[in-house]
Amino acid sequence: MTTPTAAQYRHIKIPATGEKITIQNGKIVVPHQPIIGYVEGDGIGPDITRACLRIWDAAIEKAYGGQRKIHWCETFLGEKAAGLYDGNYCPDETLKVLQDLVVSIKGPLTTPVGGGFRSLNVALRQDLDLYACVRPVRHYAGVPSPLKHPDKVDIVLFRENTEDVYAGIEYKTGTPENKKVADFLRNEMKAKFFEGAGIGIKPVSEFGSKRLVRKAIQYAVDNGRESVTLVHKGNIQKFTEGAFRNWGYEVAREEFGSVTITEEQLYGEFKGKQPEGKIVIKDRIADIMFQMMLLRPDEFDVIATTNLNGDYLSDAIAAEVGGMGIAPGANIADHVAVFEATHGTAPKYANLNKVNPGSLLFSGVMMLEYMGWTEAADLITLVYPEVVSDGIVTYDFARQIDGATEVSTSAFADALIERIQGGIDLEAKRRAQQAQLVKERKQREIRRLLQPMEEMTESGRVPQSVGDLMTRSLITVNGDETVENAMHLMTENNISSIVVEPDARGIWGILTRRDIVSKIVRNNKSPSTTKVDAIATRPVVSVPAETSIREAAEMIADARYSRLTVAQGDKIIGIVTETDIFNAVEKFGWASE
Ligand code: NAP
Repeated sequence: MTTPTAAQYRHIKIPATGEKITIQNGKIVVPHQPIIGYVEGDGIGPDITRACLRIWDAAIEKAYGGQRKIHWCETFLGEKAAGLYDGNYCPDETLKVLQDLVVSIKGPLTTPVGGGFRSLNVALRQDLDLYACVRPVRHYAGVPSPLKHPDKVDIVLFRENTEDVYAGIEYKTGTPENKKVADFLRNEMKAKFFEGAGIGIKPVSEFGSKRLVRKAIQYAVDNGRESVTLVHKGNIQKFTEGAFRNWGYEVAREEFGSVTITEEQLYGEFKGKQPEGKIVIKDRIADIMFQMMLLRPDEFDVIATTNLNGDYLSDAIAAEVGGMGIAPGANIADHVAVFEATHGTAPKYANLNKVNPGSLLFSGVMMLEYMGWTEAADLITLVYPEVVSDGIVTYDFARQIDGATEVSTSAFADALIERIQGGIDLEAKRRAQQAQLVKERKQREIRRLLQPMEEMTESGRVPQSVGDLMTRSLITVNGDETVENAMHLMTENNISSIVVEPDARGIWGILTRRDIVSKIVRNNKSPSTTKVDAIATRPVVSVPAETSIREAAEMIADARYSRLTVAQGDKIIGIVTETDIFNAVEKFGWASE
């Protein structure tokens, strides 16, 4: 794309003062006086944009004492563009300037109804290749929420923005195209489905998946985050969703190997203790993730997911923290980024100076963070809950908070600016936040250290190997013990098998309840006089912890064992039974391989 010079733009005026953001060595370089593009948007757009520009400027002024300043460049999309560019809602020069300025922010836009118009947001996404839709979701004190502990939600969701069922490859029932595709699928691919089905295609590529996951992991690295969770439906859609998961792990391993570990390593190699400076890469099946975000939201930090999952999940999580109206967002390419309010134009409130500017405001906070201007971003993040907790809110929150004072959009901005300009000890607040974060991480770590298996299952992890399923707390007996004593141990510990220490040849054994029933009770022997060695099974069938659940299931089925022991070197470290495998498959289905 060639970039027009300022003189070539019809209506956009590049500010004479200020410098453009550049990209050097693969990173954006932000001057102290950058030119940033903005689109005020339609409907309520002008009201919230006016308010937010004042708040952002005030925070920057306060944080940098005038050394840094944004030089705003108005650009046009939507109805305002249509008025200026002869009915064109999405002028080429706007797309070009957004690319040229690298960073910009936009209010909501009306997509004209009727043929001939692409959705403006889709046009932006496609033309600028904004492949990552980024939604941070966290709770702000004072904001009404349906959760008991909304403060536990603090995630940043990266949703793939260009492929999946959104690729637009669909064939309507009854059309020749539909028939052609259906015939091919039936005749050539031997696929079976009902007559007259509408057909849609879900492309998920290695390139598209990897660049999205790469961005999510890089974000986690840059922002000291604890984990990245790949959310997918790979147990059902193996070659799209499952492939997304596998490619995600591949990026982590190949490109971020020195700063990441897998959850398997966390529980196995590191026994639940997260090594300093390492980010845990884990994955969850999409439907389990919806439960987990309600039950244990603090287990999740950065999320990377495919397009459709991300669409559902981002709104669901935002709603959990009462943040639908204030949820911010951004669409980001490798460097070019367009930050945006996530709600629409709410036309009935246009020009009433009434609505909540929160969504656009926090999109601007994201933008400041993206630019590396975290001090200004933090000022807004810190004063916002103070103002809301004081009950100074716009109409939408006022109707949910008893005793709140409803104020206009501009008055809400005034209240924030007043706080920003007042003395605020940013460093002290940051230290307190950091201390809280460390405390919470420690608590999670203690849970993992104390009850690794329970934690893993409770947190929704799909077991991958026998190491994930096995019972670790083994009870062992010496072969010289009586069977009666072994039975007492089983009853006391509520277990159905017990490991028998190595015999003179160094061979481990196992004694199960079934052995006792078949070899003692059925044969009318006395448990008090029979030695464990006499009825224990030796040698045991051992597999390494990495053995896949499928392999273990095959061994159990083929050889008719009811359990396998899990070994590390020549030491037995756990037992996995057919019941464990049954329960795992029943609960999670098959993880994609
Ligand atoms: P909407 O504009 O988001 O409004 C739906 C409702 O959400 C409003 O009536 C209002 O609820 C509440 N709301 C939205 N923004 C608010 C704010 N800043 N403060 C407080 N409450 C807010 O959705 P819509 O009515 O479905 O869509 C209207 C137009 O927006 C359509 O043309 C659509 O295409 C467009 N749209 C654009 C974008 C975008 O540009 N990103 C996104 C979505 C929709 P109450 O009525 O309960 O007060």
